[in-house]
Amino acid sequence: MPLLRRPLLALARSERVRHTLTTLPVATSMVRQYVAGETTDDAVAATRSLVDDGLAVTIDHLGEDTVEPEQAERTTRVYLDLLDALAAHGLARRAEVSLKLSAVGRTLPRDGYALALENAHRVVEAARAVGTTVTLDMEDHTGVDDTLAILRELRRDHPSTGAVLQAYLHRTEGDARDLAYEGSRVRLCKGAYDEPASVAMRDADEIDRAFVRSLRILMAGQGYPMVATHDPRLIRIASSLASRHGRHQGTYEFQMLHGIRPVEQRRLAEDGETMRVYLPYGTDWYAYLTRRLAERPANLSLFLTSLVSQ
Ligand code: FAD
Repeated sequence: MPLLRRPLLALARSERVRHTLTTLPVATSMVRQYVAGETTDDAVAATRSLVDDGLAVTIDHLGEDTVEPEQAERTTRVYLDLLDALAAHGLARRAEVSLKLSAVGRTLPRDGYALALENAHRVVEAARAVGTTVTLDMEDHTGVDDTLAILRELRRDHPSTGAVLQAYLHRTEGDARDLAYEGSRVRLCKGAYDEPASVAMRDADEIDRAFVRSLRILMAGQGYPMVATHDPRLIRIASSLASRHGRHQGTYEFQMLHGIRPVEQRRLAEDGETMRVYLPYGTDWYAYLTRRLAERPANLSLFLTSLVSQ
C-alpha cells in the first residue's frame, strides 16, 4: 500500500478538513479534473459532451453519510430532477445514475435502512419512467449487507438495478457467484476505502488477482459485467475473458472515472466497446476527491498548488 494512501483516506472522513477545503470555490484545477461541476445543468452539459464522443455515462450526485432525513430527501429530489433533465435533453438512453445509499439515509440511526430503501425506490422508479437505470455504489464494508439486501428488494420490481462488488473484500467471490445470474448488472471495481485486514486484502497484487477471480465468475455467468478499472492489464484480461466466454461487445461494458485515462476511454469506445464514464457533480466533492488522491498521491502536490494559487 502506498505510504500516503491510509492518511489520505483518513482525511476523507475528517469533518474539519472537509469544511476548510469545501468552503473554497469548486473551480480548482484538480477538482475540475474529476468533477463535472456543481449543478444539474453542469452535469447535463458534461454528459452531452461525453455522449457526443461515443461514451455512455453514469452520473453521481456527490454526497454521502447523510446525517438527517431532510438531507436524504433533498438528495433524492436532486436525483429525480436530474433524471427529468436527462430525459428532457434526450440523454436517458446513454446516461444512467449511480446512487450511494448513505446519501439517501442508510446510515441514519433510526429507520435508516427503511428510509434508504424508500428513497432508492423512488429514484429507481423515476429512472425506469425515463428509460434508464440506477447502479447502487458500494461504500465501506459495514454497509455491504444492507446494500445487497436493498438491491434484492429493488430488483424484485426493477431487475435492471445495478450492484457494485469490490474485489478487495474477502467475501466478494461468493457475492459474485450469487449475482452472476441472467439480467444482473454488476460493476466490479478494486475498492476505494481503507478497510481492515480482517475483511479486505491490502496488498495490490493480491487485490489484482482477486479482481481477476471475480471477473472470471462474472464473465462466465449469465449477467452483465461492468468492468470498472483504469488498470491496463486488467482491461486486457477482461477483453480476453469476454472472448473466451463467447461474449459479444455489448454483453459487458468497461467503466472509468471522469478525468482518468480519457484517451483510453475514447479508444475503447472507438473499438466498439461500451465505455461508461462515472461522472460526479455537486458541491460535496471532498470525500470523493480525497479517495482519488489516495489512489494517486502524485496528484496531491498538484492539488495543493492549485489551492494555494487560486
Ligand atoms: P489502480 O491500480 O488504482 O490504477 C490503475 C491505473 O489507473 C494507475 O496506474 C493509473 O494509471 C490510473 N489511475 C488510477 N487512479 C487514478 C487517479 N486517481 N488519477 C490518475 N490516474 C489514476 N470504489 C468503491 O469502493 N465503490 C464503488 O462503488 C466504486 N465505483 C466505481 C465506479 C467506477 C466507474 C470506477 C472506475 C471506479 C469505482 N470505484 C469504486 C473505485 C475503485 O474501487 C478504485 O478505487 C479505482 O477505480 C482505482 O482502481 P483501478 O482499478 O483503476 O486501479
